[in-house]
Amino acid sequence: MTKKSIDFFKTSNMAVEINIMRCVHCEGEFYELEDKELDDCPLCGNGFDEEPVKEAYDSETYTLIVDHKTGIPSVIRNDEYEPVTKEPTL
Ligand SMILES: [Zn+2]
Repeated sequence: MTKKSIDFFKTSNMAVEINIMRCVHCEGEFYELEDKELDDCPLCGNGFDEEPVKEAYDSETYTLIVDHKTGIPSVIRNDEYEPVTKEPTL
């Protein structure tokens, strides 16, 4: 697979931070965005009066970017892209 290239110096971007959580009621695992916690379990529907357990955290896999011409955001998989490295300016 040939990787697409992306220049992060010209593409505004931020890491997509995803938590893998485990519900204290049904023991089910689900994903949510860091700092954007769900109020109820998406699997069993019980409210989180007791906080779900954070099993894992991932900020390495996906990046949110915005097209500087159109303003259209998209999420990319980091391993499908080769970052363009900045040429050193002398
Ligand atoms: Zn649950």
